[in-house]
Order: sequence, then C-alpha cells, then structure tokens
Amino acid sequence: MTIENLLKNLKEHAPDLDSEGIWPARQLSWLAEANVLRWVVPNAYDGLDVSAEELTQGYEQLAQACLATCFVLTQRNGACQRISGSNNEIMKRELLPRLARGEIFATVGISHLTTSRQHLANPAVQAELQGDEIRLNGTVPWVTGAEYADIIVTGGTCSDGTQVLVALPTSAPGVKVQSHAELMSLTASYTAPVQLNDVVLPWDHLLAGPVEGVMKQGTGGGAGSLTTSTLALGVCGRSLELIQEQADVRDDLRSVANGFSSELATLREDLYASLAGDQDQPQRSAAAIRQRSNSLVVRITQAAMAISKGAGFLRGHPAERAVREAMFFLVWSCPQPVVQGVLEELSCREGF
Ligand SMILES: Cc1cc2nc3c(=O)[nH]c(=O)nc-3n(C[C@H](O)[C@H](O)[C@H](O)COP(=O)(O)OP(=O)(O)OC[C@H]3O[C@@H](n4cnc5c(N)ncnc54)[C@H](O)[C@@H]3O)c2cc1C
Repeated sequence: MTIENLLKNLKEHAPDLDSEGIWPARQLSWLAEANVLRWVVPNAYDGLDVSAEELTQGYEQLAQACLATCFVLTQRNGACQRISGSNNEIMKRELLPRLARGEIFATVGISHLTTSRQHLANPAVQAELQGDEIRLNGTVPWVTGAEYADIIVTGGTCSDGTQVLVALPTSAPGVKVQSHAELMSLTASYTAPVQLNDVVLPWDHLLAGPVEGVMKQGTGGGAGSLTTSTLALGVCGRSLELIQEQADVRDDLRSVANGFSSELATLREDLYASLAGDQDQPQRSAAAIRQRSNSLVVRITQAAMAISKGAGFLRGHPAERAVREAMFFLVWSCPQPVVQGVLEELSCREGF
C-alpha cells in the first residue's frame, strides 16, 4: 500500500475508531502493508532505519490523518527503539525481525520511571536482582495496547534507587493486564495498567541498567520528546484545514486562518531545526517546542470549534474530536517544566 492510500484510509476511518473505541487492528495491518512498521527497525533486522527527519514527517502526516493509530505506533516504535538501542543481542535477534514484519506487537510501560507516580514514597514497580534473575513487583500504571502486546518494554526501581529496563513477555507468569480505561479521547489505544506479581525474568531480558535514571540512557524518545510535539502538530494541521475551509467561504475568518497558519509554519520550522541539532535558541529546546505545541494545539482546536459553531459541538464533528484530542497533550509525556509553562499560560501570568 502506498503512503497516500494509507493516509486516505486512516483519515476515512478515524471517526469510527474514535466513536467505537475499538483496537486499531485493521489500521495496524495497513501500517504493515505500507512498510511503516519497518521504519524504526535497523536494516540488519529487516527494517528500513529511516532518518529522524523522515520519521518525524511520517508521524506528523499520520497524526493528522488519525491520532489514535499514530499514537499506538509511537508507543510500539518506542519499544522497538529501546530494544534496538540496547546492547542485548539476544533480544534484538529474537524480537526485531518479527516486529518489523508485524508478527508481534510490543509497547512501552515506562512513565513510572520518569513522569508518573513520582510523588509517591514507594516506586510503582520494585525490582530485585537475584543471581541471574530479575524479580518485578508492582503496577505499571500506563501501557498502551497492553491487551494486544506480546512484549512490554518496562522497568522497575531497585532498593538502592537504580533502575532497570526489561523486555517483558506478557505471557510470563504473574503478568496481569487490567481492563483498559474509557478515555476523553484515544480509548481505541487500549491503555491499561499492568500488574506484576512476583514476575521473574531471566537476565537475558535486561535491556538497560541497573543505573540511575535508566530512561536517560540510549534512544527511544524521553518524556516531552520532539515526537510528542510532532503528534500535536498533526492535530494542529488537521484543525487548520478546518479553519481554512471555512475561511475560504467566510472572509472575516481569513486573518485568523493566516495567523494560525504562520504560527504553525514557524513552530514546524523550529521543530525540524531542533531535530537537526540546532537547539541554541531557547525557543528551539525540546521543552520549549513541546510547550509551544501544547499552547497551539489547545488554541487552534478551540478556534476550529468556535468557527464551526453549534455544528462543531455535535458528537462526531471533526472540531469536537480535535478539541478532545488536544487535551491529551496536556497529560501525555509531559515533564514538570512543560506542565509549569502550560499552567502559566492558562493562568495568564505575565511574561509568557
Ligand atoms: C491515553 C494515555 C496513554 C498513555 N500511554 C502510555 C504508554 O503507553 N506508556 C507509558 O509509559 N505511559 C503512557 N501514558 C502515561 C503518560 O505519559 C503520563 O506519564 C501520565 O499521563 C501521567 O499521569 P499520572 O496520572 O500517572 O501522573 P501522576 O503524577 O502519578 O499523578 C496522579 C495523581 O496524583 C496526584 N499528584 C500528582 N503529583 C502530586 C504531588 N506532587 N503531590 C500530591 N499528589 C500528586 C494528582 O492528583 C494526580 O491526579 C499514557 C497516558 C495517557 C493519558
């Protein structure tokens, strides 16, 4: 399948995915047919190893067409990147070619190592290293596609504060996927907590650690990475289309459409410059890009709603879906400085 056909199919079926909240199995098979599942897998393991720029362009287009599918893909790709970025040749050989061919599905459950449950006294998942085994106990709070996953890249914290990252087979004794949550949007992502009761893994499932801040090692995008901003840009692009369609027939909307169009173009330019390593200007740091993306996605989707008037308020209207999707970026993979920036803007503090 060509990318053009893939995008067309995803766009056409995005409203149903949103209203029915079913797992995007069909969408994932289209991604496989269009070779998208090979994007982040290295050539040596049957992948295409696309450049960071191509990957970002792909994510933006996919998020514009169907955020739910694109989001599931980013979590699956995050798992692939953590596996391929590790030194664990056994896991790479065993998992990456099958992931590239779409024979198995992997996802990540890593937020408790960075952004989630950080205020609690005890770690969400405790890890014990015993001889050549790793024992895990606790609850991984957020795992997209958990019910459909063969492998969850997840981790735990040891008693000395160091962390480990592992490739956890969901078939391992003691792994219990809980019911997925009904969400404000993206229910189709089947995001669920996963309970780990005395799960024992052989040492060869270790991907990284034990080390402090295990998520700062290797690749795979951290909390608030440019990938998260790219998905927000996709939703912005879709909302801009809605605004422009209306501006074509309503002259009074032209300046609003032009304003959003140039803000989105500048943000996109800064995101790609940042991706290419040009982060010297403060507005091009990953955190600044994420904060600007959050700001724009919240404002542009609400502008699309205001322009669509009462019709936009009907369930199933594209403006209504976009407003709900925008809220996701306020909570997903949002490090504290980004949350702080968002709060300052929302409370209209001076200097923002
Ligand atoms: C749809 C969706 C899909 C996701 N998918 C994934 C995934 O596949 N993999 C993954 O790793 N992550 C995933 N995440 C997790 C995400 O990246 C964030 O880590 C998560 O949204 C953080 O929210 P939390 O409720 O866990 O935060 P927490 O910080 O744990 O907050 C929970 C609650 O604790 C209270 N609280 C917070 N801070 C404090 C404090 N300092 N003092 C007292 N009380 C406090 C608040 O009442 C808050 O509501 C997903 C999130 C969403 C919404």
